[in-house]
Amino acid sequence: MLLSALYFDQPCSRQDLSMATGLSPASVSNVIRELITERIVLEAGSVDSDGGRPRVLLEVNSDYGYVVGVDVGETRVRVELFDLTMTERARADYPLDPRQHSVEVIVEAILAGLSAVLASAGADPQTVLGVGVGVPGLVEQGPEVLVYRQAYGWEAVPLERLLRAGTDLPLHIDNGAKTMGQAELWFGAGRGTQHAVVCLIGSGVGASIIAHGSAHRGSTSSAVEWGHTTVMVAGRTCRCGARGCLEAYAGAEAILDRYGSPLPGTDQESALTALIGLAATSPRAAQVLDEAALYLGVSIGDLINLFNPERIIIGGWAGLLLGERLLPAIRAAAREHSLRYPFAQTSIELGRLGPDAVALGAATLPIEALFSGTAFTAKFTANAFTSKKSDRPAS
Ligand SMILES: [Zn+2]
Repeated sequence: MLLSALYFDQPCSRQDLSMATGLSPASVSNVIRELITERIVLEAGSVDSDGGRPRVLLEVNSDYGYVVGVDVGETRVRVELFDLTMTERARADYPLDPRQHSVEVIVEAILAGLSAVLASAGADPQTVLGVGVGVPGLVEQGPEVLVYRQAYGWEAVPLERLLRAGTDLPLHIDNGAKTMGQAELWFGAGRGTQHAVVCLIGSGVGASIIAHGSAHRGSTSSAVEWGHTTVMVAGRTCRCGARGCLEAYAGAEAILDRYGSPLPGTDQESALTALIGLAATSPRAAQVLDEAALYLGVSIGDLINLFNPERIIIGGWAGLLLGERLLPAIRAAAREHSLRYPFAQTSIELGRLGPDAVALGAATLPIEALFSGTAFTAKFTANAFTSKKSDRPAS
């Protein structure tokens, strides 16, 4: 509790932490003493207090360890290495053929990226707290982590087991919309909110619901398959096999498909950028984009009626590109398709962390484990430096 309070409000003093957490000054001093001994926390100067002794400021030691965030996108696998305060230290990108979704290719890219970022930052694998992986699709957090993505034909893919063959670092796998949501909640447009919906729009469409400050989980997964809710009865066929899904109108792949004519660029990102540029002169481009905004707005109206969020955050590479031009139209459609009272409680905003928020958010998963205490065993064993790799627990 103290470590997370300090992490989100550093630098601060022992007195500030006592006020923020409700713990007694003596308890705070004891725990902070332990955290300083373990070098997770450092003293960082002092400030004068009114009439009393100067207050010593504390901060989290960014060099205590590294975390890795992986974004398994539809068009690339990105692997990023961060220090503990989320300064990026290295990154590696592996483009994917958008029509090729073999699990083997993705596992190979993640493992290659892991070695590449560790080598490029000169980081000892023993100092890595864990690897967070954000994937498209549903992630079942059972005894074995399984990934389902109907659109790719992934049925119960044992991603953790497949990665385990190439690394013994602690692994945390979750849905990419959830990891992006956590990044925006911790560092971006979601800071300070308790109830939010974070919409991830890339090739496909997903969302993460934040309730009471943390991601809402269904019975097995944190993903909200918002992209596969129906916006048009008997509409276009979606990649999932059903008809009329939101994703079939508002995902980048669908938007480009609906436009139908060739666009410059070799990937979806440059094609969508070109389409948005064309909208001023091409009525067809403008129509496809306006319809995407309408369907997105209608579906955001549904989210508002269902969840009564304080904030709706639109992110993902396509969401950010589209939002720059379409946010007013999306807001108008959401207003027309939701009840006045919950709409008035909500703001609809763009994500603030850019298109890389999935990887950044994935890297918060091992930090979350550190705060909850579940990463300590691995870390302490890893940090003893005398230990061999085989001494380390598997997760
Ligand atoms: Zn669908």
